[in-house]
Amino acid sequence: MKKGKTFIISGPSGVGKGSVLKVLLERRKDVYVSVSATTRQPRAGEENGVHYHFLDVDTFHEWIAQDAFLEYAEYVGNFYGTPKRFVDEAMAEGRDVILEIDVQGALQIAQKRPEAILIFIAPPSWSELERRLTARGTDSTEKIQKRLLRAKVECQTASAYHYFVINDTIENAAGELNAIMTAEHCRSMDRMEIIRD
Ligand code: 5GP
Repeated sequence: MKKGKTFIISGPSGVGKGSVLKVLLERRKDVYVSVSATTRQPRAGEENGVHYHFLDVDTFHEWIAQDAFLEYAEYVGNFYGTPKRFVDEAMAEGRDVILEIDVQGALQIAQKRPEAILIFIAPPSWSELERRLTARGTDSTEKIQKRLLRAKVECQTASAYHYFVINDTIENAAGELNAIMTAEHCRSMDRMEIIRD
């Protein structure tokens, strides 16, 4: 059976990870994108169980106590975590898994699952990132400044990632992500195992 791989995608808030993933998923059907849990309030149009599992802080802590998270982290005043169960079920079915998580979570997974492939999505410039965050219209000026500061710190840890994709256009970035996933499935060890079977 084809082996699934874990791809971790990080990048500053507002860089367009969601839009890039949407285009990628039109090209790669059999991928499980993990739905994280968070204590942040839903944005307009976000649905519980689809975009996030929206939890209150007490329930989030219960999930931590039950060891239900593969990783979790605090990001600009809210908690975010990857539920373990669904990821492991998808992996057991041989599907690729994509986790869209921040750098703290990515580094936790890299420790626990060193075979995971880490991909960083960066903006073409800081001014463009600020423009995108402002255009989204979901955060106060103060929150936008916090997210920008956080973005600069995150980019400094990008050297720990295997790949760096610049989201200049969604099409280009989705194309590069798709190519990375294909290349990872062409690694000689994986291919040689398939031939042996
Ligand atoms: P947002 O509030 O913009 O949806 O997400 C804020 C940040 O949290 C983004 O960088 C996003 O990648 C990250 N994030 C989303 N889900 C998770 C998760 O399950 N774990 C961690 N560590 N970060 C997450």
